[in-house]
Formats: sequence, structure tokens, C-alpha cells
Amino acid sequence: MNRATSARNKEGDEIPLARRSRPVRSKNPLQQKIIFSISFVLASFLVLIFSNFLSARDIFYQMVGLENFSDNRLLGHYPYPEASRDDLVTVYPGLMVHKEVLFDLEKMRADANRSGVRIVLLSGFRSVELQNEIFYENKSLRNQVALERARVSAPPGYSEHSTGYAIDLGDASRRDTDFEVEFEETQAFKWLKTNAAKYHFILSFPKDNSQKVSYEPWHWRYEGTVKALEQFKKVNK
Ligand SMILES: [Zn+2]
Repeated sequence: MNRATSARNKEGDEIPLARRSRPVRSKNPLQQKIIFSISFVLASFLVLIFSNFLSARDIFYQMVGLENFSDNRLLGHYPYPEASRDDLVTVYPGLMVHKEVLFDLEKMRADANRSGVRIVLLSGFRSVELQNEIFYENKSLRNQVALERARVSAPPGYSEHSTGYAIDLGDASRRDTDFEVEFEETQAFKWLKTNAAKYHFILSFPKDNSQKVSYEPWHWRYEGTVKALEQFKKVNK
């Protein structure tokens, strides 16, 4: 470095503050943007909490994509609304299903019949009131506490049957297996396992299901319409 450069540098350093062409900023722009963003997120979060629509826990779970932990399950079962009477059709006296189910259900049974398999429809729609009787009366008859009973029957308001989209099926030649795990050994179950998906029926409680409900080879739900799929979106996650 020669003497002249050194002198210029020295002069530059010594320009008085008031004469510098660029003002000195107190914070850099990036820092200001970060502070603004954090304040905005915090303010939005507080507004949501005080709006009382959701609990802080729900908001946190939704933000981090963990809605499954705040899905309002009761003893493993998801809540379901009761089907409106206008949406139900009678298959035979005392047994109703959602009107959207009927066509595929009858087609499935007719096709099974042609293959020599006779599928019996054991139950369909159940009102919350009926589920209440099943859950509480059977529970006391069987001397079971709620948690034990919930493995084999949903609490009222938490049954897929309330939607009209769930059905229980049996084998006409093996009625001794109705509502029993042994139903899985029947021709009807084997046929359903291979063919039910073609008619948009899915086994709701397979072995080791995520809801921890007992294995129910007889219980199938219909997912052949958008409305039906919407009912079961939580369980399908
Ligand atoms: Zn069932």
C-alpha cells in the first residue's frame, strides 16, 4: 500500500457523519421483515385462541398437521351424525340403509347369489337411541365396563351404523356364525373379501385396526359416493 492510498482511506474514515451520502440504518431490512412476520403469526394465533372456535391445542395440531390427535374419538370410535329419515330406505321390515347404498348392495348380493353364495343382511341403519340401548343394556348384561364393551360395540353417537352406510352381513348357510369371528371361515366372507370392493364396500374393522376395535369380519361400510366418503374421511386418513 502506497502513501497516497493510505491517505485517501484515512480521509474517507474521517468524513463527518452529517456529510456521509447514505444514512446509517438502525436495523437491517431482513431483521425487520423477520420481526414483522413473527408478530403477524403471533397476533393471528392469539386472535384464533380468543375467538373460541378452537382450542389452542387444536390450532397447534392443525398447524403441524397432526389433526389425528384431536379427532374427538371416544374409546377408539369416531363420532358420526345420525342419517336423516329422508335419506333412509327400507330393505325389509325393520331394516333400513342409506338410499345411496341400496343399488350396490342389492347388485352385490345378486352377483354373489349367481356364484352360489347367499349373503344375509343382518343389520343396517341404527338410530342413536337404539345404539344407546345396545351399548348400555348389553354392557350391563355382560357385566362389562365401557372400555371393554367399546371393543365390540360403539358408544351411542359413535357408530358407523347411525350414518346408514354400514351393514352387517352373514352367510345364509352358516347362521351360527352371525356376528362371530368364525364368519371369516364362511363362503360369504371369502366371496366378500375378493369382490366387495367392486361394489364400494370396505371392511371397517379388520384385524389390528387403528381404532383398536375388535376384528369384525361381518361389518362393512359403503364408500361409493362422495357423501359417504365424507362421513369416513377421518378414519381413512
Ligand atoms: Zn356392524
